Amino acid sequence: MTNSMSLTILVIEDEAPIRRFLRASLPSHGYRLEEADTGENGLRQAAMHKPDLVILDLGLPDIDGLEVTKRLREWMSTPIIVLSARGREDDKIAALDAGADDYLTKPFGMGELLARLRVALRRTIRLPGETADPVFRVGDLRVDLLRRQVWVGDAEVHLTPIEYKLLTTLVQHAGKVLLHRHLLSEVWGPDYMQENHYLRVYMGLLRHKLEIDPARPRYLRTEPGVGYRLAAE
Ligand code: CA
Repeated sequence: MTNSMSLTILVIEDEAPIRRFLRASLPSHGYRLEEADTGENGLRQAAMHKPDLVILDLGLPDIDGLEVTKRLREWMSTPIIVLSARGREDDKIAALDAGADDYLTKPFGMGELLARLRVALRRTIRLPGETADPVFRVGDLRVDLLRRQVWVGDAEVHLTPIEYKLLTTLVQHAGKVLLHRHLLSEVWGPDYMQENHYLRVYMGLLRHKLEIDPARPRYLRTEPGVGYRLAAE
């Protein structure tokens, strides 16, 4: 297990209040913080400090955050969490397509950020060749990928093949937002990338089988205008 004391986070953000907010809180949770207020500076700092994770604002004064994401991805696989203004769903989708791992909508709370950091870092610190646990657990939900069984508490839940495929696709990326077209392509095939209503229908079916309150899902979360996310903790 990696000690979070040793983890460095690079924040690329031109808004001083947000940097101040992060500076005031992340070090007390054991993260080391490096800061950059422009895209160019951010790229330089990324090369210099080799951070364990990058928090990147999409609206930067010099280069677009999207461009920064693409340039970082040319040489580093470090997780990138982008920050974006509410209502800019297209920006988020473009950033995820460009290689970002996750996004946070401003304004965001520290609890939410810390949870996303843990999930993003946990995904990357799995050692090469280390096999993932074949049983995924979150809350009462248990998905045994080896036996192909799904449980909620003590009750086994029977899923159709499509439901199971949809759920296991989310499990493989638990904690991470998956774009509509990614899910459609994985579950139904590349010809179905525009068929968002398939997703709505099957996500509804899954929620009815897995969630205590399908209208307020705890596990199968909607990311409005972007996609879906399976809770990882
Ligand atoms: Ca900004």
